[in-house]
Amino acid sequence: MKILVTGGAGFIGSHLCEFLVGKGHEVTALDDFTTGSAANLAGCLDSGNLRLVEGSILDPAAVSEGVRGKDAVFHLAAAVGVQTIINSPLHSLRVNLQGTENVVEAAVQHGVPFAIASTSEVYGKNDADGLHEDADRILGSPLLSRWSYAAAKGLDELMAHIRGTETGTPCVSYRLFNVVGPRQTGRYGMVLPRFVKQALRGEPITVYGDGNQRRCFGSVYDVVPAMVALLTTPAAFGKAVNLGGREEISIRGLAEKVRQITGSGSDIRLVPYDEAYGAGFEDMRRRMPDLSLARELIGYQARYGLDDIVRSVADAHQDRHRITQAAV
Ligand code: UDP
Repeated sequence: MKILVTGGAGFIGSHLCEFLVGKGHEVTALDDFTTGSAANLAGCLDSGNLRLVEGSILDPAAVSEGVRGKDAVFHLAAAVGVQTIINSPLHSLRVNLQGTENVVEAAVQHGVPFAIASTSEVYGKNDADGLHEDADRILGSPLLSRWSYAAAKGLDELMAHIRGTETGTPCVSYRLFNVVGPRQTGRYGMVLPRFVKQALRGEPITVYGDGNQRRCFGSVYDVVPAMVALLTTPAAFGKAVNLGGREEISIRGLAEKVRQITGSGSDIRLVPYDEAYGAGFEDMRRRMPDLSLARELIGYQARYGLDDIVRSVADAHQDRHRITQAAV
């Protein structure tokens, strides 16, 4: 098949491209390189089955050109990371709303099945013990740009499903719960790569707030094959599907785990939210997925536990460090 992956040079996008190329598909990765990089695709750039195109999803012509003639589109390009949203709220909104609209419109116009990456953030402050896909959203004030990502992604889902349904174009959206793995950067706020880097450098591990907030981390190696399976499963069309892992841990617990797995002597430092993100930041206390829909649809089961994930992220950081040192 001929497949377009927007955001193909990003963290999840590059793993998806690699997976699809490995299955023998012809893949085009569209990326504007704001947060992605060609280096993420080093494993499959020479395969002959991957084309890397620089372009923005805010450019409707570039998007339409990328979608034309494809058999499937995976839309992963987005302004992501708490830090990105806080630093450039308006641009992030535009990318996440207009950019997605451009992709959705191109897909329905060319009649190409499409999938969009959404987020567990759409549930906002709902801290239920297992968030099912029809759970209520509890978003904070619209005046806090912090919630703009959740608001935009919720609208993206609606737009995708409305347009997909009215045009009869197969469409699915993924609600991704703290997906982590090698190649994820901590530059835009993501906690695991930040902790691993701090631990490996012997720097203090910066736990924001009281550290009792809880998350379930999912491996990119579990999530990527599930994304592909869902877009080839008619029963999933028109649905938003949670993807991630069920192993819950507090952020303080994560810091301790990272320290132990990396054998680091780093201190754990509690940093007030105001200091970390600026005044008025609201965090989510807990975010745990109910993964039963993915299980019913495609037999989804997370194979990688948190220890495996932390180890793989630490190994990747150490390899990169060794490669950089060797190049000097
Ligand atoms: N966090 C932290 N230290 C950091 C970065 C993040 O304690 O250096 C916390 C953050 O406040 C949140 C959790 O880790 O409670 C997960 O943050 P991330 O940005 O990775 O994902 P989120 O779940 O907020 O989308």
